[in-house]
Amino acid sequence: MPKVKVSIAKADNYEEAQTGIRAVMEPLGGFGAFIKDGQSVWLKPNMVRPLPNVPALTDARFMAALIREIKEQTDPSRIVVADAPYRGYPGVKAFNFEGEYSGLKMKETCEKEGAEVIYLDEYKWEKVEIPSAKVLKEAEFSKLRNEVDVIINVPKLKTHVQPGITVALKNWHGFISWPYRRLWHADNLSQKLVDIFKGPGAMPALNIVDGIIGVHEFGPSIAGLPYDSKTIIASPDPVATDAVASYMMGWDDPFQVEMVRIGHYDGVGVGDLNEIEIVGEPIFQFEDWIRPNMDLIAVYPNVNVIVGGLCAGCKSRVKFAMENILKRGLWEEYFEKHGPLTIVCGVGARLPEPSEDVWYVGDCTQFGQKWDEEGNPRFAWDEETVAERRKLLEDPKAVWFRGCPVWFTALSDEIKERVRKAAEAEA
Ligand code: SF4
Repeated sequence: MPKVKVSIAKADNYEEAQTGIRAVMEPLGGFGAFIKDGQSVWLKPNMVRPLPNVPALTDARFMAALIREIKEQTDPSRIVVADAPYRGYPGVKAFNFEGEYSGLKMKETCEKEGAEVIYLDEYKWEKVEIPSAKVLKEAEFSKLRNEVDVIINVPKLKTHVQPGITVALKNWHGFISWPYRRLWHADNLSQKLVDIFKGPGAMPALNIVDGIIGVHEFGPSIAGLPYDSKTIIASPDPVATDAVASYMMGWDDPFQVEMVRIGHYDGVGVGDLNEIEIVGEPIFQFEDWIRPNMDLIAVYPNVNVIVGGLCAGCKSRVKFAMENILKRGLWEEYFEKHGPLTIVCGVGARLPEPSEDVWYVGDCTQFGQKWDEEGNPRFAWDEETVAERRKLLEDPKAVWFRGCPVWFTALSDEIKERVRKAAEAEA
């Protein structure tokens, strides 16, 4: 059986994006192998949320080069660029944001190249069933997929504090409507993402990764750092794309990335490097690429983290908050006004000392642990335990962040708000 192909090309900067895209597509048969003349094409970038100093989005210059190259190689009837950013952040804002990073607005840039822009969050959704899904048995997919002939996934190369990476598979979170994005975020995110690809009309024909400037360390957004990765990766297989990207980002065995492992196991694609043929440039690993270190305890001075049975969802949000505030240089100001902070997270986490300024993270911190009659520790959600924990919230220094998991920016927003209020009070 022929191996699945993943193509790699180099592009030193965005001026070279079109040459790089041509080079990455050549060993895959060029765009003509995927788009027939007269067909319509949907390009789905990652528009999660624009940020001034972190290249979190598929770059507008990359999209422009891609549209130009598709038009030079084929004759499509229509090219649509469409995505819905992260929950609550409208497409109209994301597509019209003039990024300090690229200096360009995505909508204007794509339209100049003759493409049409659609804000998916304002477009039509339809409920679909996914019988072979393990967790996402139903979802809302954009109707746009039924109105085009070819879908091309155009993700960014980034690390991610929850599933490790966000490349081809994670970019399909934008394929489903906002309410369904909040589901299955505790410890099932990777499975859910793989499930999306099993849905009707969800498999893209091609994945082409903007890795010219990637994001490493605590990606995918403000707590990440830009990295000159100077690379473009392309493949018809999203799992193989992510396996190769994972290896290049420092995971020697891509199966250590849960999404890749599950994608392979569920038969959505090929995640085993031995079953992948690398074409174009030889595979390599980025020098000094930093993978997210998810340690929480005894890492941040003045922040005492008490952990119970903690899911990846809440863990990633606590870690994101710590690093986000560190990157913004706000911890000193916070401690000066509020003193040390204790964060309690996870099922059955032990309780802090009463004198501490304490934040309870997630719904499950309201449940405790007790011994049963045989002396075994048991998860306890009886009235007495819950009432005892609720009483702790009466302490004016206690804050309970609700959710399962909590909202991604809840903790960092609280810290920023307290720092802002303290500065205002002083002024
Ligand atoms: S609230 Fe508790 S159970 Fe829910 S994601 Fe967070 S740690 Fe897991």
